[in-house]
Amino acid sequence: MKSLENELDRRREAGLYRQRRINESAQGVETIIDGKAVISFCGNDYLGLANHADIKQAFVDAADRYGVGSGSAHLVNGHSVLHHACEQRLAEFTGRSRALLFSTGYMANIAVASALTGKQDVIFQDKLNHASLIDGARISEARLVRYPHQDLSRLESALIKHNLAGRKLIMSDGVFSMDGDCADVSKIVEVAAPYDAWTMIDDAHGFGVLGSRGAGLLEQQQLNQEQVPILMATLGKAVGTAGAFVAGSESLIETLIQQARPYIYTTASPPAVAAATLKSIDIIEADSWRREKLQELIAYFQQQMAGLEVELMPSQTAIQPIIIGDNHETLSLSNALFDRGLHVTAIRPPTVPSGSARLRCTLSAMHEFAHIDLLVKVLKTLL
Ligand SMILES: *Cc1c(COP(=O)(O)O)cnc(C)c1O
Repeated sequence: MKSLENELDRRREAGLYRQRRINESAQGVETIIDGKAVISFCGNDYLGLANHADIKQAFVDAADRYGVGSGSAHLVNGHSVLHHACEQRLAEFTGRSRALLFSTGYMANIAVASALTGKQDVIFQDKLNHASLIDGARISEARLVRYPHQDLSRLESALIKHNLAGRKLIMSDGVFSMDGDCADVSKIVEVAAPYDAWTMIDDAHGFGVLGSRGAGLLEQQQLNQEQVPILMATLGKAVGTAGAFVAGSESLIETLIQQARPYIYTTASPPAVAAATLKSIDIIEADSWRREKLQELIAYFQQQMAGLEVELMPSQTAIQPIIIGDNHETLSLSNALFDRGLHVTAIRPPTVPSGSARLRCTLSAMHEFAHIDLLVKVLKTLL
């Protein structure tokens, strides 16, 4: 397999080689990674729920009663009473008619694109969308049109150009996963309306964190199911469990059940995960202090970073990337931070556009101001 070796070598030389570090602790702020105690600034457990005592208990109790594996797909006999209750709770929480659980967000995005569109149709996507949305469009065989990041006038030109196509589906990250800025969904909906295009928002990084009850970006921007017919969000980030859901009308959810291959041809997630998600949603709704604390930490981070000569992104969310540019430099900064007890991963192309490699710093409600002080102090010596 010489050609593979050559390719891997080229990757190393370009500073693009990816390596996993081994986490020996629960997800959280203070972690043991590769045998070393480090403060983590890179997870997506924004509210500190992945290791929450009550959520773990709900998981354990459910496993005790319902076992571990679900045994089959949802359409065979794997759709447990816990999955069903979780779907109803997610629908109610997001103010939508129905919700459908998926094993991962990646699969949910492939499902939406491939079940709703085909060769005659056009999908419109922001250039900085998550890879799973792009892959969904590819698998659907619809024509994919990508517009420059947040450039809605370009989206409109594309809608005009493809007005005579079959279905038109706009898919966008809600909070952009590598930049942290939010889509102007009200504006997208306004642009979409005259062309009869459907809008889908992937709220992987907003769900749990944004909105007064934590129901996400659409709650924050006060948009309902009529305006944004398709909402997708993941459960492995702020919710602290695993999987994802799509929420919307009766006909949307029934279409996914009938047609979405990533729904039909896979084993249902363990029922205990649904029990944990149910508990987590209760905590998200009740603990508004977690969202408030996170906002305070975000403001503090931005204020402390202002003294450094680095480019921060226009982000008001827990995702606060520091753009470095060069791949090797980003990697060596990440390693230097790690040596000093701080874990911030280097994000490089193709996850981000080339020349924009970055330290993707993320904050969690579990951070303390002193953690940020330490990060900023160390960054000052390195940058
Ligand atoms: C993480 C993420 C996904 C994928 O979700 P998984 O449950 O991890 O598969 C999809 N979209 C966005 C924007 C994400 O950040």
